[in-house]
Amino acid sequence: MDIALVGAGIGGLAAAACLIQKGHRVRVYEQAAQVGEVGAAVQMSANAVKVLDELGLRAHLEAVSVKPKAFEFRRFDTGELLHEIKLGAIHEQTHGAPYYQIHRVDLHAGLMDVVNRLDPAAVQLGVRAVGVDEAESHVALVCGDGQKIQADLIVGADGIKSVIRQHVVNADPPVFTGQVAWRLCIPTQHIPVDLRPDVVSSIWCGPKNHAVMYYMRAGTLLNFVGCVERPWEEESWTTKQPWSELDQDYAGWHPVVRAAIEAVDRDQCYRWALNNRKPVMTWSTGRVTLLGDAVHPTLPYMAQGAAMAIEDAAVLARALDMNRPLADALQVYQNHRAPRAARVVNESTEMADLYHIADAAEMKKAFHDRNIAASRNGWLYPYDPLRVALD
Ligand SMILES: Cc1cc2nc3c(=O)[nH]c(=O)nc-3n(C[C@H](O)[C@H](O)[C@H](O)COP(=O)(O)OP(=O)(O)OC[C@H]3O[C@@H](n4cnc5c(N)ncnc54)[C@H](O)[C@@H]3O)c2cc1C
Repeated sequence: MDIALVGAGIGGLAAAACLIQKGHRVRVYEQAAQVGEVGAAVQMSANAVKVLDELGLRAHLEAVSVKPKAFEFRRFDTGELLHEIKLGAIHEQTHGAPYYQIHRVDLHAGLMDVVNRLDPAAVQLGVRAVGVDEAESHVALVCGDGQKIQADLIVGADGIKSVIRQHVVNADPPVFTGQVAWRLCIPTQHIPVDLRPDVVSSIWCGPKNHAVMYYMRAGTLLNFVGCVERPWEEESWTTKQPWSELDQDYAGWHPVVRAAIEAVDRDQCYRWALNNRKPVMTWSTGRVTLLGDAVHPTLPYMAQGAAMAIEDAAVLARALDMNRPLADALQVYQNHRAPRAARVVNESTEMADLYHIADAAEMKKAFHDRNIAASRNGWLYPYDPLRVALD
């Protein structure tokens, strides 16, 4: 098929690679003049890494990632360990692929290399989609400069503010969650040796606030994401805020968290609003479908948004390969993916209630009762998008 794919983010590039591998002609239309990602990290669990492996990215991932030993959930002030999910060798042996922490720029560059090797003309930069013109027999992508690009199928991978979603679902805007996220990237060598976190994904949980810290780039950089309940502000990955407000948000926190905050470049403190949407079960029309944040934007509290986009990519390519009429294949894709993505969206939203409990004893009991390790090891990480039965 001739596929017009909108958006060259992690989801769009993963989908382009999976679809070209199956023999389709794919053109990726990206509004930005240059492709790239922001200076932050992303965690990739086995359910998504299986797809990256299949795309030939294992050596790249091994070279640029960090493999954490565990998720550790700790109380914000005392540092008491509340709960643990074992990662490292156990995750790899149990779920069939490693767990990586990787700079977003490095993951994006790896995917871009794969797409370029498969088809150097696939990614078209500086093309902004503004709408869709769909009839039973054909579909066209309408672009900002007025051109109409004919295709057999349009895939919207254009993120949380998706234009293609407006054609498939509705034009409702995403909803502000009441939480904002600090994003810091700290050279490890700037942190005193005795206050550096262990090689884990550590989640420090406190009243109306939690902070996530983990290493990337072979441990040379520490990624810090601080999620605070605050009034509305701009949804932008590039808005800087005063270090003094960061300092205030984490006053009285554990010395390991404080050390990271003291070590950050004070002019490099980014903060943006966290938006959300309720899950939807309709992802497709006859000739248009969606994937990634365009259809299921997800709060980062389970570290699964990009992983879900990568799972979508593999399953969409398999559904289109089932030798069925296009509209039927899109139904197979949607019916298989929507319930799983909805579960991730809903559970991620619920995590804020767990991570932000004020009372220490109540928080400890809630972690014990919730047993996130058993849950995620039970249904989330074992999923294999390359082999799971589709209907
Ligand atoms: C703080 C934070 C931490 C996170 N951590 C993790 C994690 O550890 N693990 C994980 O799996 N996920 C994580 N996520 C989620 C993850 O970042 C997203 O789910 C993922 O990046 C979505 O990818 P995407 O390709 O669907 O969308 P995007 O990355 O938003 O890409 C969309 C692309 O479409 C382009 N575009 C948009 N509109 C148009 C248009 N009209 N025409 C043409 N192009 C267009 C954009 O320029 C962009 O390149 C995190 C998110 C946040 C906020």
